[in-house]
Amino acid sequence: MPKGIVIGAGISGLLAAKAISNAGWEVVVLDKDSLPDSPSPRKGTPQAVHAHMLLQAGLEAIEALYPGFQCELVSRGAVMANMTRDWHTMLQEGTLVRGDSTLDFISASRLLIEYILREQLAQNPRLTLKDCSRITNVELRSESPPIVYYSQDGKMRSIRDADLVIDASGRSSRCLQWLEAGGYEKVAVSTTTTRLGYASCLYHNLRLPRSDLG
Ligand SMILES: Cc1cc2nc3c(=O)[nH]c(=O)nc-3n(C[C@H](O)[C@H](O)[C@H](O)COP(=O)(O)OP(=O)(O)OC[C@H]3O[C@@H](n4cnc5c(N)ncnc54)[C@H](O)[C@@H]3O)c2cc1C
Repeated sequence: MPKGIVIGAGISGLLAAKAISNAGWEVVVLDKDSLPDSPSPRKGTPQAVHAHMLLQAGLEAIEALYPGFQCELVSRGAVMANMTRDWHTMLQEGTLVRGDSTLDFISASRLLIEYILREQLAQNPRLTLKDCSRITNVELRSESPPIVYYSQDGKMRSIRDADLVIDASGRSSRCLQWLEAGGYEKVAVSTTTTRLGYASCLYHNLRLPRSDLG
């Protein structure tokens, strides 16, 4: 059975792992964080504590890889909503007109989305999730499999029999340096500055009894 290594157990890593496992691969996913046993925050994905929504196309893509994902999400409190009907959007230019549209999305915390994906991954015998495992280097060699180096419990370890390495480590990726050190041509990089700030605020609805606030 071919073996794949996925760096990072964020949403991209968990989905990539399932995609190659569906194609008959054995997969090991490594993440530097200690992954919590509940939908709680962790250092590696600081954006997860902000408000999140999953658009319909993303939801369908996840459902195709993890059947039952949407039901599980809804059973734990996620709500389906329509972006122009249920969402109140205020921009500098004014408030968007409310009304029905095809822009449906599911509103759930990113913490819950990732947690359910981790739970579903754990049920698959071909998938192994190793947390507290920080990838320090991937040595690419033309004639033999890449060597993936990682630290775990203060010890340096390596995986030498990977047929494929997928880097899903997000913005901290060192993939470009690894490719260059492996003798590959320098990859062209394009950068876009969004000049966008982000702040989330959680309000308590005082009309609801406290027990319903979740
Ligand atoms: C404020 C904010 C709000 C957002 N809101 C939305 C939204 O509403 N809807 C939406 O769809 N998207 C939203 N996004 C975008 C979304 O969060 C990102 O697109 C998504 O998180 C990218 O996922 P990822 O798995 O590629 O990377 P990440 O989420 O960054 O995951 C990377 C993983 O790699 C691990 N890792 C990193 N380095 C190493 C290493 N050396 N060794 C091992 N593991 C490592 C990290 O611990 C982490 O688990 C938002 C982003 C931000 C910043």
